[in-house]
Amino acid sequence: MVIAFTAILGLLIGSFLTVVVDRVPRRASVVAPGSACGGCGLELGPIDLVPVVSWLALRGKCRRCRAPIGVEPLVLELTTAGLFTVLAIKFPRLWELGAFCVLAGGLVALSWIDLKTKRLPREIIYVTAAIGVPLLCVAALVRHEPKRMLTMLIGAALALAFMGVVYLVSRGGMGDGDVRLSPLLGAYLGWLNPGFVAVGLFLGFVLGAVVGLALMAVGRAGRKTAVPFGPFLAMGALISIWIGQSLIDRILHR
Ligand SMILES: [Zn+2]
Repeated sequence: MVIAFTAILGLLIGSFLTVVVDRVPRRASVVAPGSACGGCGLELGPIDLVPVVSWLALRGKCRRCRAPIGVEPLVLELTTAGLFTVLAIKFPRLWELGAFCVLAGGLVALSWIDLKTKRLPREIIYVTAAIGVPLLCVAALVRHEPKRMLTMLIGAALALAFMGVVYLVSRGGMGDGDVRLSPLLGAYLGWLNPGFVAVGLFLGFVLGAVVGLALMAVGRAGRKTAVPFGPFLAMGALISIWIGQSLIDRILHR
């Protein structure tokens, strides 16, 4: 029941994130005006905003002028719903589920914007932290484990320190947005287990390196091309949230 509800909530949040990724980089309001077709200006009504279903019914085209809408809404809605579903299975306690869904939504928006514009807008990082960190604190208190608030701070500090060093050593190879994102990821990972901070960052760097080398191999990127790193940090963090414990167990007990 909770899982189905969370999945549907993910579709709705994903629909909202489609607006966020379009407007935040342009510094436009995410609440007003309502969404409209980029082709003919037709304002989208409630029916057009039903996630996935309306896109499929209209085959990704505007109801009036048939201008293509693109796959963006579909990708963001399904990705967000998929992540929310996994989190609902992982976190049966509601405060934790809420906190981690906030992170997932923020990371979906940030990753998409980074892929499109190679930027990680600080507004989205700060809003995600401003909603997510208080939820993590409540979740720690509800569990009667206040020390998680301490490990959360330690995680944030560790991640920021590590990424700060990488930033200085790489001399511009790493964006300052990635550094700004790191304490948010570190806070969440530290809340779970400070060891996850190392796992998450390590996975992020491995994924980024593998994809970066692959792009170089097929000639899509040169050594100087900036590869957006935010999506890899996000993926590394989400993977270690999901299976960090079994990864650590496997490393320590072999
Ligand atoms: Zn139109």
